[in-house]
Amino acid sequence: MAAADKTSARELWQKLFEVGRILKVDHGIHPGDIGGHRPREVVATVSVDSVEQVQDVVRAATQIGARLYPLSTGANWGMGSRFPVVEGCTVLDLSAMTRIRELDLEHGYAVIEPGVTQAQLAKALEGSEWVLNVTSSCADTSMVGNALERGDGIIRSRVQDTLAVEVVLGNGELLTTGGLDGRSRYHGRVAGPDLTAAFVESNLGVVTAMVVSLVRRPETTELVYACFRPEAFPEVADAVARLGRAGLPTDGLLRLRGSVVPAGPHALPDTPDSGLLSMTVPLLGRKETVQLSRRLIREALESVPDVVSFRSVDAATVEEDDALYFRARMALGIPTCASLRRGLGVPNCDVEDTELAWLMFLPLVPLDREHMVRAVDVLRRAVDRHTTALTAEFNIVSPHIANMVVQIAFSRTPESTARAHALRDEIRTHFADEGFPAYRSNIDHMGTELALRRDALIAPLADLKQLFDPSGVISPGRYLNGSAK
Ligand SMILES: Cc1cc2nc3c(=O)[nH]c(=O)nc-3n(C[C@H](O)[C@H](O)[C@H](O)COP(=O)(O)OP(=O)(O)OC[C@H]3O[C@@H](n4cnc5c(N)ncnc54)[C@H](O)[C@@H]3O)c2cc1C
Repeated sequence: MAAADKTSARELWQKLFEVGRILKVDHGIHPGDIGGHRPREVVATVSVDSVEQVQDVVRAATQIGARLYPLSTGANWGMGSRFPVVEGCTVLDLSAMTRIRELDLEHGYAVIEPGVTQAQLAKALEGSEWVLNVTSSCADTSMVGNALERGDGIIRSRVQDTLAVEVVLGNGELLTTGGLDGRSRYHGRVAGPDLTAAFVESNLGVVTAMVVSLVRRPETTELVYACFRPEAFPEVADAVARLGRAGLPTDGLLRLRGSVVPAGPHALPDTPDSGLLSMTVPLLGRKETVQLSRRLIREALESVPDVVSFRSVDAATVEEDDALYFRARMALGIPTCASLRRGLGVPNCDVEDTELAWLMFLPLVPLDREHMVRAVDVLRRAVDRHTTALTAEFNIVSPHIANMVVQIAFSRTPESTARAHALRDEIRTHFADEGFPAYRSNIDHMGTELALRRDALIAPLADLKQLFDPSGVISPGRYLNGSAK
């Protein structure tokens, strides 16, 4: 179907609003983007607060060929913020769908809607036997949008938190997966194929609810924080890879982080560990297993020539003036906006017009010394060529592969913005050449991401798209179908 023109789409949303079938429609100017991506023209932003309203909007969109771009809380910072992948979309804002439909504190899961934030769910868990796997983004960002992008929390990948979904398909029908029934009750996965993962990083439907696995509140939560000189990176990478491969007896995601800066001035803000490599790992478990994990980490680091500092602290007793305070809070399942605000040097989370801008590149790197060193070498060479700094983080999400997070900080002048984007383009190309493809994309590269896949899934996925969204109204270009430009 041909795409609807702007006027007929706007008239349609206005009509739906007047008859009370949507919560709000906004034809105003779309907010900016912290990543300085090419701005997309947005027809309108339509807000809804129920599954029925989502179905109404999707059905109406199919009638005139309007393109929809669903957002949970719209904080896709560094990857495109609230901008859709292609021009001429109507943003479908789900942030008013804030119901925690079910909180099962016996079995440890929650059935939540897209607008439920980290702060909201963490508050609902206060005093319970369960904690939340929080990210270091703003406390008011969603669980659902982040999990649909394969985000990483402080304890594990959000992929592991995602048990099941409820989805409005492109034909307006409601589908549930993973053992979630039509009455928001979760029964666990029964025999046979499960489609939950098909709705992660895809455009096959609008997710209206998700079953989120909670983390058992441990007897003890410690936070290990160690710093090293950057020259020791090969040995540190080796130790981290060995730890990741062997696994620890406690829960918690190991992160290794460092900055790569060019000679001369750059926009990267100063932190207490600037210029050093830092390793952070929360240890959640029983007292004895936490002790064992701490010992295993110390043993693994014995081969590192120059450990600048090593701290292991009880997360519950870290004082507010301690540099580890906010990391400790997150390890306890308490989300905080502090790392975002400090990172960007701003007093609140209205980040779209900050002086400092922020781009992300998120590739996969095999978990071993050789590949990790090669990845950092590529970054070093590119940073020097583009005289723009970045921070690089290895999140050890599995024994095989690390999720890398490359954050490029730049000031918002046209010249710095162009350099930052050129840097990301180059890194992305070189990483692909090295066999390190992205695991999470941004609106400017989305259309080409699938081409880098090495499995044989593309054709069947296109068939699924045709089946679930025959008019192609949902998130055109998002990971599946259509070019990004
Ligand atoms: C300083 C800083 C720190 C950060 N730390 C982290 C971190 O620790 N871990 C991490 O993972 N990220 C991090 N981020 C990135 C980002 O802010 C988060 O991933 C954030 O959770 C994404 O925003 P959101 O939850 O509002 O998702 P949204 O922006 O709402 O959605 C993200 C994507 O999913 C799609 N989508 C959303 N909801 C639906 C739906 N219901 N149905 C279908 N499609 C949907 C959207 O179209 C969009 O493409 C950080 C960013 C910054 C700047």
